[in-house]
Amino acid sequence: MAEHSNPRSHIIVGDGITALAFLENCRGQDLREITLIGQSASEFGRGVAYAKGEVDTPWRFAYLLNSPADDIDPRFAQWLGDRWPRLRDTMTGRSPNWLAAAAPLIEAGDLYGVNAPREFYGDFMQEQADALIAQLEADGTRVIRVEDDAVSIRVAPNEVTVRSASGKTLSAQSVDVAPGGPSTMRIDGDDGAHSVPTVFGNEHRIAEHIKRGAEIFCIGGNAAMLDVLRLCQSLRADHEIRFVACAPDGEVPAALVPRLPRKLTVPNLTKGHETAQTFLAEIEREISSAKAACDDMREIRAGFRAHFLDTPLHHYVSDPTEALKIAGRLRFWLRGGTRDTILDMHRLLDAGQVRIVKGLVKSVESEADAAVVTVVDEDGREARIPTGFVINCAGAGPNSRFDTLTEDMLSQGLISRCETSLGLKVAAGCKTRTPAIRYLSPAVSQIGEEVVAMPLYDAHMLRTYVGRSSLER
Ligand SMILES: Cc1cc2nc3c(=O)[nH]c(=O)nc-3n(C[C@H](O)[C@H](O)[C@H](O)COP(=O)(O)OP(=O)(O)OC[C@H]3O[C@@H](n4cnc5c(N)ncnc54)[C@H](O)[C@@H]3O)c2cc1C
Repeated sequence: MAEHSNPRSHIIVGDGITALAFLENCRGQDLREITLIGQSASEFGRGVAYAKGEVDTPWRFAYLLNSPADDIDPRFAQWLGDRWPRLRDTMTGRSPNWLAAAAPLIEAGDLYGVNAPREFYGDFMQEQADALIAQLEADGTRVIRVEDDAVSIRVAPNEVTVRSASGKTLSAQSVDVAPGGPSTMRIDGDDGAHSVPTVFGNEHRIAEHIKRGAEIFCIGGNAAMLDVLRLCQSLRADHEIRFVACAPDGEVPAALVPRLPRKLTVPNLTKGHETAQTFLAEIEREISSAKAACDDMREIRAGFRAHFLDTPLHHYVSDPTEALKIAGRLRFWLRGGTRDTILDMHRLLDAGQVRIVKGLVKSVESEADAAVVTVVDEDGREARIPTGFVINCAGAGPNSRFDTLTEDMLSQGLISRCETSLGLKVAAGCKTRTPAIRYLSPAVSQIGEEVVAMPLYDAHMLRTYVGRSSLER
């Protein structure tokens, strides 16, 4: 086997920000060749969330980052500042009026606090990736981009082989896998004449219904729902919008509003908890006291994130089964999202153009020119709600699917699924059962003994964990 192997070569599966963080790990590792495999390998570093928008569509640049720019990455905030005149020109005359929403921050000298269009963050990450690849090549590492999907992986003593959807075989001594999260969970009838299973990639079809004045009904109340509201605003004046968001808690997430000077809540937590329950009670107390001290949700959320990155959960709750119960609650308690969109949503709620329905969507039926959604309330009662067009924004759930490679890795036991959180488990340093392969995605809920306290659907956290994995390699 050794004679067929390719010494000091490496493969990275995926083309998003986590894959880029793995590529950053390759600096100084004396690699002869690195192969990057992903459908968008030519735009390596963007991934799904920060992809380039479709040119000349009204919704291009409408989707925003959920946090202030400097919470995502202070270097990105600086990048925005350096290019501000050009970015301001790009955003001039757009609907919704992003510049007007950003104006109070800009006037207060807080350009770093804006919710930038996600495509801008993709531009920044792609620039970082291209510069890094140029540097690696200048240092003698050949970097090959393969626009394909990896579908299977096999481990031999000195070599790992990856097969692609188009039948390519790639071999290297080590592989990093960063395929992103699983699909949105499917809901019965979400792919009908008046429904779509996800917003992304279906914008043209949804746009037709927004333009004809149909009421738009979102299943789910999180980030993708906020994107749909922006999509509506890019096509119709606010007073023409009719929009429904349906979520189990019936609440709009808190807006993450930055203040100057920046502040982080510092939680005061005690160690040695035997159960999640007692630790959660302490966290709840800390969140309440931060709110009583007038800390904003941005400050509380970013403070807890920084705290748990410094002091991982197992320092507080050593039993992993108990620790795994915590992220779900924290996700709910620290729910927050894009300032611009949430402020717009409250305005449209007050004007009666947005409605919130509390409950779980059971199914969708498409009729001749509309849809009917069946919603179950907390007492188990069902209601049939007629609407115009339905978009599934529910996010990952029990029936979500992973990409084919992740399924292959699960079937071989290279990584495993956690029964409690339904997330994925990897070994310390993001390693899999074999140290030659590392894996990280937002779906990972446990890294070695570290149970992640807050879900990894967060650019800063993903990059932090990959950065740490390099030290342990
Ligand atoms: C629409 C959206 C908006 C978001 N907004 C924010 C935000 O504002 N702030 C924030 O912090 N986080 C946000 N997130 C969370 C987001 O998951 C992370 O921030 C981050 O983008 C995840 O990066 P990733 O590289 O792990 O995954 P992805 O960005 O999903 O990239 C993975 C890439 O790998 C490719 N791939 C998958 N499987 C394979 C395979 N088998 N072979 C080859 N390639 C493969 C995929 O096509 C994809 O392009 C958002 C997520 C989404 C989906």
